[in-house]
Order: sequence, then structure tokens, then C-alpha cells
Amino acid sequence: MAGIIELERVSKHYTKSIIGVDDVSLSIEDGEFVTLLGPSGCGKSTLLRMIGGFEQPTHGRIFLAGKDVTWEPPHRRDVNMVFQDYALFPHMTVGQNIAYGLKMLGVGRAERDAAVVEVLRLVGLPDKIDQMPHQLSGGQRQRIALARAIVRKPKVLLLDEPLSALDARMRDQMRMEMKHLHDKVGITFVMVTHDQEEALTMSDRVVVMESGRVAQDGRPQDIYDHPASPYVANFIGTTNFLPGGVVAADGGTAKVAVSGIELTALTDRPQRAGDVVTVGFRPEKLRVVPPEAACGNILSGRVSEVVYYGLGLRTALELDGGETIYVDSLLPDSLARSGLPPLGSRLAVAVEPHNVFVFPGGGAP
Ligand code: ADP
Ligand code: MG
Repeated sequence: MAGIIELERVSKHYTKSIIGVDDVSLSIEDGEFVTLLGPSGCGKSTLLRMIGGFEQPTHGRIFLAGKDVTWEPPHRRDVNMVFQDYALFPHMTVGQNIAYGLKMLGVGRAERDAAVVEVLRLVGLPDKIDQMPHQLSGGQRQRIALARAIVRKPKVLLLDEPLSALDARMRDQMRMEMKHLHDKVGITFVMVTHDQEEALTMSDRVVVMESGRVAQDGRPQDIYDHPASPYVANFIGTTNFLPGGVVAADGGTAKVAVSGIELTALTDRPQRAGDVVTVGFRPEKLRVVPPEAACGNILSGRVSEVVYYGLGLRTALELDGGETIYVDSLLPDSLARSGLPPLGSRLAVAVEPHNVFVFPGGGAP
């Protein structure tokens, strides 16, 4: 079945040399919460604006609910957009702000009032109906902007960095509220963010973008545990990278020489002995083991730096092979009492084969 949004090889060339979006194909299911994630300038907003009709592609086609809307203006599409700065009308009450779109559509007074009351209840602000925007907090204004965007019950809601104007506390709270709102209204949400945590916690699916293209498209956990490239592994979470060479490969297992030792990796990409690869593993997947431990997949070295970050410790470990890696460990009570590991002390860490990424080619991002 075709998705509610279908992008067919969509590109946006602003000029010959400025390519905003480069050959993106994407299918979004009805009711999904999809996030476009990537660093500034990778084309997220351009892609979102093209779905909304605020920008036209230079190549490719866009379908909404099966209909080719590539050349349709925004008001002819069953979508609504929430902008970063909310853009509420300052001289109108909350109720008037929300009702405005319905009024323009010719919806009658009684129906408008009922819709406003219902949507204010949905965003948890039923008592703000007669207030002016300046009387509200940032988080409340954002909720009103959401209410205004969903009151017309569009099939798709487009959100461009909707939480970026909020302070950190409010952002955390709004993340959960927006997710709940999405579950309640059943509208397809497509959200743009450069914040990986936002993407991982809020969405059903994350589309990671790199220079106008899709670098990876998958569920948050798949992207975190099976990044498609060093770029993705580096942008989402933290990854240690080491240059390596495949020593032996057999089906889904590879032995890779890194930093003077051999690591075993489970990998779904075919490897051949002699291949030059980049190995990656996440700091929190490393387990501190006794130096004489007999199990495999152990890296050892000397502690060169220890940073306390509340939840735990990040330890820089200078490997015997010369490279430095980071090890994250939750802080056990005993360690908190006895103090941090001394600089220069020996440390060994083990990594499970399924936590070792093997990427083709040399060169960490
Ligand atoms: P993001 O939202 O991921 O930060 P954008 O979609 O805004 O990225 O921009 C993607 C690329 O397109 C950037 O190189 C940006 O400078 C360029 N770009 C965006 N809008 C325009 C425009 N109106 N005219 C020319 N170049 C643009
Ligand atoms: Mg943007």
C-alpha cells in the first residue's frame, strides 16, 4: 500500500552548486511519527517545505494520499505546518488564534467554538481560551501553535524544529507531550530536528540526512545499534573509531586487527580477509574487566583522563596500540566513595562482538 506521503526521487537545486535536497525517495505511512534528523544545512527544512508546498522541487514528484501534488500550492494540500517561532497573531486571543483558520474556511461559529474547546483540551490548556499570546509561557505558546495546526484535522502535520525556541526543561516536557498528542490525534507527524535525543525519543522512524541525501532510514533502535555508516554512528550517540584490517571472515563473523589486537565482530555486511575497514564501538558498550581476564575482545591501556558527568564517568583510555578511546561507565556507589580511577593506572575493557561495527574503508568521520 502506498504511504500517505510518497517522495519519488525528489531534488532541490537552488543553484547549479547549491543542492538543498539530492535525489530523496521516501514513503511515510498514515499515522507515523517520522523525524528528519541531521546537522544544520543538510536539507531537512528544504525537504519539509517541499512536502508542504512552500518550495518546489527541481526534480522528482511528491504524492499525498495517492495524489500528485508536486505543483499544488500549500492550501491545496491536506497538510499543516508548525514553524519554529510559533507565529501566533499577537492581537488575537488564544481562542481567536485557533479559530482563525476555520473561519477562513467558512466553518460556522458554533462548530468553530466546539472545535477550539476540544483542541484546547487535547493540548491541556482548556482555561487559556481568552488569554492573549503575551500572557503565556513559551511552552504554552508552543502548545497553542500545535492546537491551531491540528484544529483543521489535516492528514499531515509538518513541524520544523518545533521545540528549539524552548529552554531545556520545557523541551524535555514538550517532547513527551507532543508524542502523546500524536498518539491521541492519529495525524501523521513529520518533524525536523538536529537534536538526536529528540529524534530518538519522539519518533517511530528516523530519517538521517547527510548533504541532501538520506544516510539511513529506520527505527530509532535500529539506527543506534546498526548505524549504516561512520557518519550515522558519529552523529547519533558517541562512537569510538579505530582503523582496522580484516584478518578472517566467515559468514556473519569477522576477525579484525585493530590497535595491535584482534577483535571479533558480528556483522551483516560481507567482509573479506585483507579488507581495510573502520571499526566502531560505543563507549557505553565497553565493560571494565580485570586486567588478567581470559575472555576475548579486550582492549587495554592506561587511563589518561576521567570526566565525571553525574550519571557516570567518561574515561579516556590510551590503548597500548597508541589510539585513545572513551569508556562510559555508570558510577557504582563504591567508586563514588573511593574516588575516581587514578590517571596513569592500567585499565582493560571488553566489548561484545555484536557491539562492534565494521564499516568498509579507512577514515573515521
Ligand atoms: P537544514 O534545514 O537541514 O539546516 P536547509 O534545508 O535549510 O537545511 O538548507 C539546505 C541547503 O540549501 C543549505 O546549503 C542552505 O544554505 C541551502 N538553502 C536553503 N534555502 C535556500 C534558499 N532559499 N536559497 C538558496 N539556498 C538555500
Ligand atoms: Mg532547517
